[in-house]
Amino acid sequence: MRIEEMPATIVAEMVRRGDLSAVDYVSRILERAERTEDRVNAYITLLKDLALKRAEEIDRAVGRGEDPGRLAGVAVAVKDNIAVRGVENTCGSRILKGYRPPFNATVVERLLMEGAVIVGKTNMDEFAMGSTTETSAYGPTRNPWNLERVPGGSSGGSGAALAAGSATLALGSDTGGSIRCPAAYTGTYGLKPTYGAVSRYGLVPYANSLEQIGPMARNTEDLALLYSVIVGHDPRDSTSLRDSGAHLARIENVDPAKLRIGVIRELVEEPVDKRVAREVWRLLHKLESMGAEVDEVSLPLVDYALPAYYIVAMAEASSNLARYDGTRYGFRAPGATWEEMVVETRTRGFGWEVKRRIMLGSFILLAGYVEQYYVKALRVRSAVRREILSLLSRHHVLVGATMPIPAPRLGERVKDPLLLYTMDIATVPANLAGIPAVSVPAGIVDGAPVGAQFMGPPMGEPLLLGVSKLCEEATGFRDRVV
Ligand code: GLN
Repeated sequence: MRIEEMPATIVAEMVRRGDLSAVDYVSRILERAERTEDRVNAYITLLKDLALKRAEEIDRAVGRGEDPGRLAGVAVAVKDNIAVRGVENTCGSRILKGYRPPFNATVVERLLMEGAVIVGKTNMDEFAMGSTTETSAYGPTRNPWNLERVPGGSSGGSGAALAAGSATLALGSDTGGSIRCPAAYTGTYGLKPTYGAVSRYGLVPYANSLEQIGPMARNTEDLALLYSVIVGHDPRDSTSLRDSGAHLARIENVDPAKLRIGVIRELVEEPVDKRVAREVWRLLHKLESMGAEVDEVSLPLVDYALPAYYIVAMAEASSNLARYDGTRYGFRAPGATWEEMVVETRTRGFGWEVKRRIMLGSFILLAGYVEQYYVKALRVRSAVRREILSLLSRHHVLVGATMPIPAPRLGERVKDPLLLYTMDIATVPANLAGIPAVSVPAGIVDGAPVGAQFMGPPMGEPLLLGVSKLCEEATGFRDRVV
């Protein structure tokens, strides 16, 4: 096995025992980045010197007989909307160019406490708005599996870094699918945690009521390992759950013979691409042959979930993005008056997709329209949660395609916002409902992977990780670096 394909669990174990030098391993990952970045563009910032220095420290600690922690030496890529002290944090936007947060996100603190080596900040759709990583102001990321295609988004850089072998683990954020979508298209595993399970302190907000930071990895054990490090209560995030903790990252030993899986019809039939659905069914039939019970169920509200999601997300985004006015963070355009400066900064600093959402979000929140759009969307949101929880009272997990189409070609979807938004049909329900969901590799279509998504009950991560492990056994799809 090549070094860049090694699971994080093994890297950490070997580094802790002194059988692998963190410097040798991290150098190899950085070399990989050097060789692939021209084509892939997974990173906005590569932290070459910092990473090597840190790896040296880890090796020295091991030499002194100390234990650097559960991620000893492991190369982790961090999405560029998660604060790493002193490192540029652009969110894929021109407006945050040059912004260096003076603090670490809680998840980053936790990574460092366990001996991780942060190798870089990954490319993303601007402010996490998109599903292809093409709205980034720093150029699109390409899918290492098939360079004509996108890696998904918005955490596309994180998925691509894993598939290219320029990181061993990665953090993403998921507001409406941004971890699961790139996981599906890059042949990796991605978990959107239960709302409140992971601290959002230090995550640049897009839509606070929907989003979570979560782990991405090339196999289930790595996914659980990274999750175990970042999960848990944080007094600095008021939405953080009190009873969340490392127990949520356990991989439950799931007996397939006792597993009841509900297949959401709407997420494996029209308008879902037949070739994608075929791969999902292939996986489900394997689980069935292992003894699982697989029944079709219906979630008719799926069609309403998408508009409800976009109304809530845009409303929150328009408020969140009001803070970028040139006075505090990053980029500032010149102007004779304060007003001119603010207008110029925002005009030049934001890309078109972000502007569209600020305008639509402000419109949605106008007095007179609030009842018509926002309040209605909140009602749909509660109904979606109720419907999903009711299905989950009869089935342990619910499944469907993660993405309704194979990885699009660059430029194919991003031109038409509605086409872009419809890509999220399968992922947004979990965010509206606040429940955990995991995407696992199901197969290959058009030279790039596609995924299956399992949703579970609130705090059902151990079960989802157990199911993920079963899928991994069924497909043999793991540790793929292309
Ligand atoms: N594609 C969705 C959006 O643009 C989800 C993005 C995300 O999860 N951050 O809103």
